Amino acid sequence: MTRHLWAPWRIEYILAEEDGGCFFCDYWADPAGDEKNLVLVRGERCFAVLNRYPYNGGHLMIAPEAHVRRLADLDEGALCEMMRLTRLAEKVLSAELAPQGFNVGFNIGRPAGAGVEEHLHLHVVPRWEGDTNFMPVLDDTRVVPVALGKLWRQMAPRFAEEAAG
Ligand SMILES: [Zn+2]
Repeated sequence: MTRHLWAPWRIEYILAEEDGGCFFCDYWADPAGDEKNLVLVRGERCFAVLNRYPYNGGHLMIAPEAHVRRLADLDEGALCEMMRLTRLAEKVLSAELAPQGFNVGFNIGRPAGAGVEEHLHLHVVPRWEGDTNFMPVLDDTRVVPVALGKLWRQMAPRFAEEAAG
């Protein structure tokens, strides 16, 4: 029997926009739309946003302002800020959702599963024991927008608090 590593970001293709636009760039350029766009927190040059098609509650992404494909195209400052926001996400998600673990990772390039391969981003997926069993529930997309809005309202203030402190 073949056993597969559970890779939550494989579903990423769903996020790819069909009109050729880049939603990371659109979100960055529209601070007034942060609630609508589910942007949780902004740094100087990077931000965190809830994934609209989460594999788990609290699945978020961290992206730089820069529209680049590879880590090699990011400068030190942006790289460091991505990791600082990842640490912040770990902290806030731990406090708010009490996961038992996290998957944190990049898909770089199409064969690696990147859906939005033109704009580098990092996935943070909270994990709980046995959570793979409930993944098919996410097929029911009707409940997702409500849950995501609620999650955003719960988490965004905590991100702001922690980022300031
Ligand atoms: Zn972009």
